[in-house]
Amino acid sequence: AKADGKNCARVYAPALDENLHLRLRLESDLRQAIEKEEIFVHYQPIIDAGTGVTVAVEALARWSDPLHGHVPPDVFIPIAEMSGLINAIGRQVLMAACQAMRHTNLDLAINLSPAQFWDGGLLDDVRTALEETGFPPERLELEITESLMLRHPQRAVEVVNSLRALGIRIALDDFGTGIASIGYLQQFQLDRLKIDKTFIAPIEHDAKAREMLVSITGLARACNLEICAEGIETDGQARLARMAGCGRLQGWLFGKPQAAAAVVNMLDDAERP
Ligand code: C2E
Ligand code: CA
Ligand code: CA
Ligand code: CA
Repeated sequence: AKADGKNCARVYAPALDENLHLRLRLESDLRQAIEKEEIFVHYQPIIDAGTGVTVAVEALARWSDPLHGHVPPDVFIPIAEMSGLINAIGRQVLMAACQAMRHTNLDLAINLSPAQFWDGGLLDDVRTALEETGFPPERLELEITESLMLRHPQRAVEVVNSLRALGIRIALDDFGTGIASIGYLQQFQLDRLKIDKTFIAPIEHDAKAREMLVSITGLARACNLEICAEGIETDGQARLARMAGCGRLQGWLFGKPQAAAAVVNMLDDAERP
């Protein structure tokens, strides 16, 4: 086994080096992009399942640069998390999004990564963004993930409560993909559950998946949570999610993430600033 280990090290060392090199390269370029405020935000519409009207948007960070091209957030957000850059990105996204959506009447959902959630400066950052942009707190929703609940549940409850005391709302993102037990839902005062797209994808063709969706929405109702279904790509999925009791729907069927101006132009006259 020892000899094997040695072999492995020899075979894989160059690849690891390359990966590490790329990661460090991305990290330093990301740092510069943040300094030059080149991280921008796209907005994906979220509709009311009953009326079909766009009632909210989710802010999604974007980074493209001449060297790397478009770098997906699934790549640069983890790098930002590991290197501590996420707080700066988070502040820029929060500020830009509140600014861009302030003259609409749309709710605004923003992703919070674990490092941001645990950072002592979060509350101040949120307060500052609300004050400087005049964005109404009751229209702001922060999306957190299940993994937070496992680490220090008691402390996490306190952070959630102090955020909600600002008048903003908290959504549990990617519900069903983590390992948090249902029991944790009781401890947390949350406002919304976002059902992950991996639950939505099979519902048209898989009776079991449909039953699971109905169970999850039942659970959410029991906990007094509103529900948003993510990753709706077809009319059939929209219909089933609506029937299961999802109040809000999000997905390519209704619109991809796009520039603020494009979303605002899409709104009915009544909703446009
Ligand atoms: P997420 O929060 O689950 O965001 C939803 C993702 O699903 C987005 O990917 C969105 O473009 C994609 N999506 C939306 N509708 C559909 C659909 O109908 N079908 C499919 N296949 N995909 C759909 P995106 O923009 O690549 O973001 C990936 C992840 O990166 C996000 O997942 C979120 O976890 C993270 N992220 C993005 N922006 C931020 C940010 O500003 N801060 C933090 N902390 N994380 C972010
Ligand atoms: Ca999200
Ligand atoms: Ca999600
Ligand atoms: Ca996610």
